[in-house]
Amino acid sequence: MTSGNPFEIAQRQLDDCARILDLDPGVHAILRQPMREMHLALPVRMDDGSVQVFPAYRVQYNDAKGPTKGGIRFHPEETIDTVRALAAWMTWKCALLDLPLGGGKGGVICNPKSLSRNELERLSRAYARAFAPFIGPDVDVPAPDVYTNPQIMAWMMDEYSKVLHKNAFGVLTGKPLCVGGSAGRGDATARGGLITIREAAGILGLDLSRARIAIQGYGNAGYYAAALARSEFGSTIVAVSDSRGGVYHPTGIDPDVALAHKQATGSVAGLPGAQPIANGDLLELDVDVLIPAALEQVITGENAGRVKARILAELANGPTTPEADEILDANGVHVIPDFLCNAGGVTVSYFEMVQNNAMFYWEESEVHQRLDQRMTLAYHRVLEAAQRYGVTMRQAAYAVAVSTVAEAMQLRGWV
Ligand code: NAD
Repeated sequence: MTSGNPFEIAQRQLDDCARILDLDPGVHAILRQPMREMHLALPVRMDDGSVQVFPAYRVQYNDAKGPTKGGIRFHPEETIDTVRALAAWMTWKCALLDLPLGGGKGGVICNPKSLSRNELERLSRAYARAFAPFIGPDVDVPAPDVYTNPQIMAWMMDEYSKVLHKNAFGVLTGKPLCVGGSAGRGDATARGGLITIREAAGILGLDLSRARIAIQGYGNAGYYAAALARSEFGSTIVAVSDSRGGVYHPTGIDPDVALAHKQATGSVAGLPGAQPIANGDLLELDVDVLIPAALEQVITGENAGRVKARILAELANGPTTPEADEILDANGVHVIPDFLCNAGGVTVSYFEMVQNNAMFYWEESEVHQRLDQRMTLAYHRVLEAAQRYGVTMRQAAYAVAVSTVAEAMQLRGWV
């Protein structure tokens, strides 16, 4: 799916921001590169007795504002440049949400769909063991991302705890509730994104109870976005998709029926009563809100002109290329950029870290209320910066985030 180099895109976005802010050249040079990255090889005993070696990465992009934070992705097409880009975006995301954290990311080149549960557990434990010297609650705190989940986090936390000979729940976030997870973490990314959509709709005068929504990707982010858009706003979900295909229904898809179908068959494709739709066509549907919630670079210079949505809410990281951004801007599409739109996950991950530290756990309602407060504030900070600088929402999000990181670097005497 990824055609251009995502890290080059992340660097171009930063360069653009440096021009807008007239950024100190020393700060700019530091922020163009990851501060630290580890490349390791993970040998794993497979069920048939053979040994397979999986390349694995961890990138700690910048820790001026605190320990680095970011998910671990298991994907056959993972590359170090994807991990670098995602780590850079985590840096901006944490800064934008005013979290006391830097940005990091991890990845393993593997096909989790072809691994048995035991192989997946051995791979997850191998990752935690191998990276144990480089991670920790004060250093770098991983979390789930594409094709990793709370069970994988529990195995990794357990392995890290064994290495340290003590319970170390705070080493990573996105854990199941009974082993140090936070209430409200499961749907946090989608819930946070919907808060930004709610604010954008308010500005644009769009009635979300009558809105038609299309969602690409039906995993953690995509499913909860569909379910919450329906339950919280009364919106109509007209299309959903996953890696195997998509479905379209003009009068609405029930998100839970689509989920049950995916659980039974492996895909939303073939949902009874709905029409098939290709992933590319879904992006061009006549909808009010389009939510990419899968992988990078799906909206490009080639198809951006055919996006009809009024709001493009980027739950996925990096779904839009810089060429596409220019076209969307010219066409008046209101883009809620990725590291604003999908910041709900890391925000509740931060709440999880706070609760792990305090050994005191919050009610779900408290998590929701604190998430709403931070997401609403971040959306309006970006909107205000877009108006102040006369730039797009993405450029404005960069301006707010990069100036916050730059201030921390300057105060710490790095430049
Ligand atoms: P997930 O593994 O739970 O789900 C990914 C979904 O994308 C699956 O339904 C998969 O079938 C689908 N998909 C994969 N390739 C596809 C393709 N080519 N076309 C269409 N669909 C495809 O992952 P997730 O956690 O939901 O993450 C999705 C996106 O959201 C990623 O970009 C991730 O970085 C971003 N994100 C997730 C979180 C989080 O907390 N889960 C937080 C921030 C950002």
